[in-house]
Amino acid sequence: MSQLQDNFGRRFHYLRMSVTDVCNFKCTYCLPDGYRPDGKPKFLDLNEIEHLVSAFSQVGTQKIRITGGEPSLRKDFTDIIRIVKDNDKINTIATTTNGYRLAKHAQEWYDAGLRRINISVDSLDPKMFYQITGENKFDDVMRGVDAALEAGFERVKINAVLLKGLNDKDLPRFLHWIKNTPIDLRFIELMETGLGHDYFKAHHLAGNDIKLQLEQAGWQFDTPAVDDGPAQNFSHQDYQGRIGLIMPYAKNFCASCNRLRVSAKGKLHLCLFTENGVDLRDLLQTPDQQAELIERLHGQLAQKKETHFLHDGITGVTQHLASIGG
Ligand code: SAM
Ligand code: SF4
Repeated sequence: MSQLQDNFGRRFHYLRMSVTDVCNFKCTYCLPDGYRPDGKPKFLDLNEIEHLVSAFSQVGTQKIRITGGEPSLRKDFTDIIRIVKDNDKINTIATTTNGYRLAKHAQEWYDAGLRRINISVDSLDPKMFYQITGENKFDDVMRGVDAALEAGFERVKINAVLLKGLNDKDLPRFLHWIKNTPIDLRFIELMETGLGHDYFKAHHLAGNDIKLQLEQAGWQFDTPAVDDGPAQNFSHQDYQGRIGLIMPYAKNFCASCNRLRVSAKGKLHLCLFTENGVDLRDLLQTPDQQAELIERLHGQLAQKKETHFLHDGITGVTQHLASIGG
């Protein structure tokens, strides 16, 4: 079966699969008023997820990240991991979580087959963490990080969104933390969404500022592997941890795009920011729809644009990243 490829020669072996829009945090850059249900939400069930994973795996997907909203709020989260694990064409299962349920479940998820985990920790100052996330859960999340390190995950990554006037003084604390802790820290530039124009203007901080500080402190740029995503990675001989910068506004950011997204209600998104999403759900109902589903995927890939249009302030229809998993 031919692999998913677009008209610009990019191949897509990585699927970010959202399993819920629901979240229990109120991150000021994402869901400042908390999750607001849109009618009675009906997210993909286990059968639909199995059919989705099966179709993508037949056209080259090897890595799946389970995301949300907060994916671990699904009661069947461990079953979802198992379903992905049962597909032998998928060799990497990852998730992105706010860490809220991690301390209790890290080992269970690892045992079910999860191998990589990204935990969002926007500040190492508990008060600032509370201010950014709307939840006074810093200690719980940090216990979760410890549990993940103990459970044996291949990679424990920490995501921190760079926020001018909020966590921009935190770099020394983060560096201190990863000196003796084998964590991959990833600073993500704030992306503008439909909800957040004023917020964006007030808090966007260019990743380049951090890059300069790192280079001055002796951090070395790591040459990217062929199938690395868009992060620019840095390492330092005196530190166990590494640092990645995700700068969606940087030149050529889209050239290395290797990922597709499916929303919790089964819509394919070719890019975080450019379109409405194309419904796949009607073709996720039975195993005998796989050929038609795959045909739809190929048809859609032919329409993927070369780049996003964030520079022009065009954020597409994405109101917030909780709806398609960031
Ligand atoms: N709830 C989980 C979490 O926070 O890790 C998973 C979903 S969340 C949408 C995925 C990632 O997107 C998080 O690391 C979050 O910080 C990031 N994110 C959300 N909104 C963003 C924005 N406007 N700009 C940059 N990153 C954002
Ligand atoms: Fe929830 Fe994640 Fe959005 Fe924060 S970033 S509100 S934890 S979905």
